[in-house]
Amino acid sequence: MPVESEMHHLRRCVELAGEALAEGDEPFGSVLVDASGVALMEDRNRIAGGDRTRHPEFALARWAVEHLSPEVRAAATVYTSGEHCPMCAAAHAWVGLGRIVYVSSSAQLVGWLSELGVPEPPVRPLPIQSVAPGVVVEGPVAGLAEEVRGLHCRYHGAAPE
Ligand SMILES: [Zn+2]
Repeated sequence: MPVESEMHHLRRCVELAGEALAEGDEPFGSVLVDASGVALMEDRNRIAGGDRTRHPEFALARWAVEHLSPEVRAAATVYTSGEHCPMCAAAHAWVGLGRIVYVSSSAQLVGWLSELGVPEPPVRPLPIQSVAPGVVVEGPVAGLAEEVRGLHCRYHGAAPE
């Protein structure tokens, strides 16, 4: 599990997810952090404009390959409010990024969306390691995951319980 010094990166991911929600986007946020714990780049979901590939994890993978050496990418950690979807897990692995720590799992998200009556997405929500078996993955993070659930409830027009 993530150590205490990593919790502020995870909290920032939840904050970014909240910013996405405030802008009408699905609540997802991610931070790319180097081996010494310094945040290099962050992003949030940006699908409200109609391009549903604009996930923060995908954006971070693209940024990393353009700005960081393979060594720095391999030593970096991506913190994220929700486990990578298959597209983002693949991008993460293709660009050779390191560990992933997520606040809430895809399995949790599937459960929440099903409770909310949201139709299934066009891409199957597989665990990261089904797509990218070499990536070290940690999560979910109890407590913070409930905050993420609240954001998804709000996005889909339900009051968080
Ligand atoms: Zn994704």
